[in-house]
Amino acid sequence: MTTLHPIETEGYEPEPWEIAWAESAKQVEIAAAEWRSRWPHHCKHCHGWGGSWYEESHGFKGGGFETIFEPCDALTHPTTCHRCGFAGLDADGNGPCALCGWNCDDGEPTL
Ligand SMILES: [Zn+2]
Ligand SMILES: [Zn+2]
Repeated sequence: MTTLHPIETEGYEPEPWEIAWAESAKQVEIAAAEWRSRWPHHCKHCHGWGGSWYEESHGFKGGGFETIFEPCDALTHPTTCHRCGFAGLDADGNGPCALCGWNCDDGEPTL
């Protein structure tokens, strides 16, 4: 005969920040789903942002971080818009997109 142990999470009270975090994660997921249905042809590589940002340390003492934008190079044709997926950018891949107005200013919502 095995003894049944109570479920460990029973009686567990999530911290207020955990509830807030879960709530905002849910909101972002809803917003992201809406965004994806609005822009079904968006670039899956950069999620419609046209690139990604990363922080680079300057390495010296007291030096700060510099935010660097790395343009997305997943699309083979530079005029392809990363958001609407159609040829709306200029020959250098610069916006704003002639079709949806995107100019590296929007993408799939993330936390
Ligand atoms: Zn892209
Ligand atoms: Zn576009």
